[in-house]
Amino acid sequence: MRLVRRVKEMQSISRRLHEEKKRVGFVPTMGSLHDGHLSLIRLARKMCDTLVVSVFVNPTQFSPSEDFTRYPRDIERDKKLCESEGTDILFAPETDDMYPEDFSTYVVEERLSLPLCGRSRPTHFRGVTTVVTKLFNIIRPTFAVFGQKDAQQAFVIERMVRDLNFDIEIVVAPIVREKDGLAMSSRNRYLSPKEREEATAIFRSLSGVKQMVRKGERKTSPLIKLIRDEIARTETGRLDYAEIVDTRTLSPVEVIEDDVLVAVAAQFGRARLIDNIIIKKDEL
Ligand code: AMP
Repeated sequence: MRLVRRVKEMQSISRRLHEEKKRVGFVPTMGSLHDGHLSLIRLARKMCDTLVVSVFVNPTQFSPSEDFTRYPRDIERDKKLCESEGTDILFAPETDDMYPEDFSTYVVEERLSLPLCGRSRPTHFRGVTTVVTKLFNIIRPTFAVFGQKDAQQAFVIERMVRDLNFDIEIVVAPIVREKDGLAMSSRNRYLSPKEREEATAIFRSLSGVKQMVRKGERKTSPLIKLIRDEIARTETGRLDYAEIVDTRTLSPVEVIEDDVLVAVAAQFGRARLIDNIIIKKDEL
């Protein structure tokens, strides 16, 4: 595995891979890799000639009040994990190489970025679309793998790729969970033992929603109430949002008639956690 730390060096490798007509798979991450990330890497590995993983904690997707400086970083461990999963190139650029002091160009998706996490994190997706565009230009992958865990992010990236005609296939991989259902996240390490235990309420509530829909409930208000109640029963959790939205528009629906995304964000101690399920029309 080759560790690449400079944008210019990565670009010259990408140019060569392109000339050699390699099928390049790409998995962007912010590092502190866990089994969720590794599942994306394994999926990509099976689909490509050359596998590039990036580790970059992207400052532009954090607001000044968020956890950019204390976001967990462990490049040595990430390096070993990437290597053992058969990664060919680990791209881990420095912040000032990605964002020179006079950086002033951003990519903004103006519709799907607005609801859900966009409401509580108004500049977040602008940072995501900007850094993903930069990474796509630097790496020029054939396809890139994103996790369903960040469902809105995946929808925004798919829209950006379509709207701006990136010749890159977007693959979305399922959510990997701990045994008790908590979605794996680098931020789970912020949780105290009590918060960690109570954070299982998020997936429990999503499973409850799924069950109610199976039993025939189609109105979303009782389903959202179920999520609210489940989080309210905890001592340490505070709900940011619980919404049931159309998967094409991310607009709230009152009655489930088509594919919907059931999305939850909740703060447990210092950790803002998100999770979701998709309910397909054919499950109704
Ligand atoms: P992050 O390092 O949090 O930016 O995540 C990098 C990629 O891994 C994103 O596409 C995430 O959606 C994905 N990811 C993070 N956690 C999980 C998980 N538990 N299951 C599946 N994918 C995940």
